Amino acid sequence: VAKLLDGKLCAKAVRVRIRTELAALEGRALRPPHAVFIQVGDNPASTTYVNAKSAAALKVGIRSTIGRLPSEISQTELLAGIAAHNADEQVHSILVQLPLPPHIDTRAVIEAIDPRKDVDCFHPINVGRMTVGLPGPKPATPQGILMLLEHYGIQVSGKRAVVLGRSNLVGKPLALLLLERNATVTMAHSRSANLGEICREAEILVSAVGKAGLVTADMVSPGAVVVDVGTNHVPQLGSDGSLLEEQGEPLLQLVGDVDFPAVEPIAGWISPVPGGVGPMTIASVLWNTLTLYKALELD
Ligand code: NAP
Repeated sequence: VAKLLDGKLCAKAVRVRIRTELAALEGRALRPPHAVFIQVGDNPASTTYVNAKSAAALKVGIRSTIGRLPSEISQTELLAGIAAHNADEQVHSILVQLPLPPHIDTRAVIEAIDPRKDVDCFHPINVGRMTVGLPGPKPATPQGILMLLEHYGIQVSGKRAVVLGRSNLVGKPLALLLLERNATVTMAHSRSANLGEICREAEILVSAVGKAGLVTADMVSPGAVVVDVGTNHVPQLGSDGSLLEEQGEPLLQLVGDVDFPAVEPIAGWISPVPGGVGPMTIASVLWNTLTLYKALELD
């Protein structure tokens, strides 16, 4: 049976490291670390993410400000707000929660953030820096996955890694970071032929697709490390297979892309959903805040 890649436990260890690093900087007359989170509109998922990131920042001793802006805000006003945070020396990181309302040009917003404060690593300058191996923030989820593997002493160098999904958010940067750590990387996506065959070659298999049940037991080679990034809300079933409901609404359950009960007996390691990559993404945002803070205050 696979050993668990416990994201909650590992995220806690990352938070301890951040607190230790911040404590070591105390007494150096630096500005206190300050993260700004901007939410446009009131999408409930965005509210949850922003609140979780802000609370996590406070927990490690990083001051946090949430800017909640109305969904009707004009692009000009939003860009002016970002410019003010860019210019504010008391602010070390800026995160604009996506998605943005359709009348706003997301690309323009991403590119308006000062790359030195770009905690999500979405700015093309930071994407470029990462691509050529320069220091700086790294995309949160991929960096969180690497921290998780490192925490459990899982070697990446020389391994065959398969990444399912090629988004700019997860799949593509993860493949680059695995390559930088000397894995032999294959990227697969919706047009890949023979997905099962490709996956069976993986010693490290990461699924970042968003399809419940995509990774089945026959796609996993014995002993493989399986990392499940997917987050899918599926109807919850009772023990007799019937749909569970509450006040006439179907009860939903959060699952990943991997058929966990079927894959767990085969894999060497497996990350659960929830409690795997999710907590690591938040810890990774905090790690980036520390990275940006040190670069702004010490360099
Ligand atoms: P995305 O932008 O929708 O990308 C999904 C990728 O999966 C695409 O590259 C797509 O291929 C590929 N794909 C679709 N169907 C496929 C199939 N049948 N076989 C193989 N590949 C397939 O999604 P994302 O933003 O990368 O997120 C992926 C999942 O991770 C989502 O469930 C998201 O909620 C979750 N997520 C979780 C966290 C976390 O912290 N836990 C963070 C980020 C994302 P094409 O490019 O060919 O269309």
